[in-house]
Amino acid sequence: MNTLVMKFGGSSIGTTDALTQVLSIVLHESEQWDRLVLVASALEGVTDGLIEAAHLAQMGQQRGYRRIVANLRTRHLALIDELPLGTTERAALHADIDRLLFDMLDLYQGMAQIASKVTNEAVDATIGVGEKLAARIIAALLRQNNLRSVALDTTSLIVTDDVPGNATPNIELTRTQIAENLVPLLERDIVPVVTGFIGATSSGKPTTLGRGGSDYTASVLGVCVNATEIWIWTDVDGMMTADPRDIFEARAIPTLSYEEAAEMAYFGARVLHTRMIGPLREDNIPLRIKNVYRPQQTGTLINETGSGRSHSLKAITYIPGLAVEAKRSGETSPIPMVYDRAVMAAPNSQLDIIMSAQSASHSLACFLVPTTAGSDAIHTIRLAMEENLQASPLTKTWVVKNITFVTAISANLDNWGTVTASILQALKHIRILALSQGPSNSSLTLVVENKDAEEVLSLIHTMIVSNG
Ligand code: ADP
Ligand code: ASP
Ligand code: MG
Repeated sequence: MNTLVMKFGGSSIGTTDALTQVLSIVLHESEQWDRLVLVASALEGVTDGLIEAAHLAQMGQQRGYRRIVANLRTRHLALIDELPLGTTERAALHADIDRLLFDMLDLYQGMAQIASKVTNEAVDATIGVGEKLAARIIAALLRQNNLRSVALDTTSLIVTDDVPGNATPNIELTRTQIAENLVPLLERDIVPVVTGFIGATSSGKPTTLGRGGSDYTASVLGVCVNATEIWIWTDVDGMMTADPRDIFEARAIPTLSYEEAAEMAYFGARVLHTRMIGPLREDNIPLRIKNVYRPQQTGTLINETGSGRSHSLKAITYIPGLAVEAKRSGETSPIPMVYDRAVMAAPNSQLDIIMSAQSASHSLACFLVPTTAGSDAIHTIRLAMEENLQASPLTKTWVVKNITFVTAISANLDNWGTVTASILQALKHIRILALSQGPSNSSLTLVVENKDAEEVLSLIHTMIVSNG
């Protein structure tokens, strides 16, 4: 029984053209595989809108959240109006969209009434509706084209811990749910379209898996249905040597090892969720990244071996971060306190300490804000840190600064020392604030001033392209 799990990203389902591509991909793959499981993300920008609406509700701004819900409704209805759907299918979908969005208005109204007492858990319960809308649209489109398909909410499939905004699935409990609620559909040749990003605790409280979490959903489902492969469909040709939005010359990498892909995701390649590789690696399930708009391209294949031992770097990534710096004190003891307080002040905004550098007269601790925390998190954390540094005489003179982590990646590099030396040689005119080598020679991370980041990226990318 070969099973394929395919996840469609928000970047590639938001227009009629994109959905037509999705349809033709699914119809084609349904002929090649015994079983298909599809995972849908929210349309691009929808989750951002939902997060904003929840914040407006917390501030009691009824007009603000109503406007966002009205815009979401218009956008989804306009999309289904353009799709080639029969009258019954369209009317049912229309009713589903209205019901889901009216429920949201009720939730926001309840939040507005208790305002500051709204918990992070309550906010989490509202931000997954974008996935529910998208899954219903895709399932209707497939049914219209003679595939047996149903939309399924992962609140009854993915069982997670209770960390709001960044929950982690429990694979064993999820496997049981999937055996009961999903596998019977596969046995009846139905193609389920499940919601990415969302899950629920074992007591039924809705949770989300961190920004970009639909990738993680695909990986957990894949493990639980013993998938043969998992394919992530997005808007670029695969995992690339750099983010093509920054480096025009970036090119797709044909094969990567799990380790390399996980390093890339952790250090900023948001095309993959940072924690999705772990479960696949354990079960040795191959992962492909492909472009919805160019399905004939082979994309990137990620597996245990990747391309084997190598002489050259594979990719360059970057991720914005924060540093706290003390110019006149060599004291490092306040650093853990700064970290703890920032995490406490911004509980939904995850933070990893990844390196510190110090001399007798100068301390610097650098924090990475994972892509799963979303792009606003860095701002929230910076404010929390500044406030906390001011609150203690020990840290009053410390300053917070925005920095960038730039990471060169290749696991199994057999000449790591030489490569590191040539990177440092190429960057000799750049001020490197701190530097760290991944424990298994899989990555070299440089902390640089934001103003230098673009040049560093470009210089290292040139080395990658000219050596590869
Ligand atoms: P989706 O909506 O499909 O989940 P995302 O926006 O989450 O899409 O991820 C795809 C984006 O990831 C690409 O458009 C690209 O700009 C960005 N990205 C960053 N680094 C890389 C990389 N090394 N390779 C490919 N894409 C990357
Ligand atoms: N829609 C969610 C987000 O924007 C999850 C995802 O896109 O994978 O973060
Ligand atoms: Mg994504």
